[in-house]
Amino acid sequence: MVYLDAASTAKYSVIDDVIINTITTAMRDSWMNPSSLYASNTKEKINKCRANVAEFIGAQSDEIYFTSGASESNNWAIRGWVDDVANDLLRTNIITTSIEHKSILSAVQSDVLYVCVHYCEVDKFGLVNLESLEHLLCVHEYEPTLVSVNMANNEIGTIQNIKEISDLVHKYDGILHVDATQAFGHIPINVEELGVDMLSASGHKLSPVLRGIGFLYIKNGINIRPLIYGVQESQMRGGTENTYGIIGMNKALEYCDANFGYEAISELCEKRDHFIALLESKFGCKLNGHGKYRLPNNVNVTFPQNITGESMLYMLDISGIKIATGSACNSHTVEPSHVLKSIGLSNEEAMKTVRFTLPNDITYKEIDYVIEEIGKAIKIIEA
Ligand code: PMP
Repeated sequence: MVYLDAASTAKYSVIDDVIINTITTAMRDSWMNPSSLYASNTKEKINKCRANVAEFIGAQSDEIYFTSGASESNNWAIRGWVDDVANDLLRTNIITTSIEHKSILSAVQSDVLYVCVHYCEVDKFGLVNLESLEHLLCVHEYEPTLVSVNMANNEIGTIQNIKEISDLVHKYDGILHVDATQAFGHIPINVEELGVDMLSASGHKLSPVLRGIGFLYIKNGINIRPLIYGVQESQMRGGTENTYGIIGMNKALEYCDANFGYEAISELCEKRDHFIALLESKFGCKLNGHGKYRLPNNVNVTFPQNITGESMLYMLDISGIKIATGSACNSHTVEPSHVLKSIGLSNEEAMKTVRFTLPNDITYKEIDYVIEEIGKAIKIIEA
């Protein structure tokens, strides 16, 4: 099997065996409810993990709140902020883009929010148009404004210049939330240097074992209300802590350092670019997203041939190759991807698009095999 859908969930590897062992040990040794007074050991372990996660993104320990994953973190950041600032006197604004993950787009459109939602323009590569952002910020300068953008797009892999965005947001006294789900553990993140106020991340983009665990970073001094009321997580997120997920995610971080090394990232980028070059030269594919500001694992291309991404997906599945036409969260819809349409693709082009997201251990041999199978699939589909 060749797994090329790492953006939907990380590929299982030997590292995951280590994470499973760490989790099963915790299941035996740290099974008590961490809130029980006699379980201070477990509470301490959780807080050590919190400190490690914080250090990993350049935050303080008390700025990390564990959640069930990035969908919850995104919803919490948005709805918790609105709950805190909304009042009848001032208009409340959320500025986002049309290429965000559905958990953001649905949350901002939710009818429980009494806010004005503004969509900042993106260019044909999926980069935030800073002029459009500044215009929106400037128009709403004296009203509470939250900006929410993703750090790296889950479909086309475009990496935003978060520092430039945060400088602009703060120039107009706004708050910046960043959905870093696809970036966390794949490219370096330092919230302090980037000037991020809130950041969402998820465990299962690091390891498939880590489903149902994530966190929201909330910079000290930023006020939001809970989404799930209760006493845990400093009364900010109710629910008995997912001790095993937290301990597992902490373990996974030990292995991310190796991924961040210049060598590991540039090696994956070289393989990605080799794959893109073959898709372009052999089949005339057109790359979507940015050539340079791009996740090391993302290859998103439109085929010129008369084939749909969906038929390619099924053909390659027969050859043991797992790919996606867009994000897994939208895979049950027949609508063309909202991200591809936002960067200017026609419906037809969007339907002829495929997303390959490479696992860290991808080999050149596997890439050659995939290219060969794509060639065969095109011949069969076109026949
Ligand atoms: N944001 C982005 C950019 C994502 O790619 C995903 C996962 N596809 C999410 C949010 C949701 O993450 P989770 O599965 O942890 O809820």
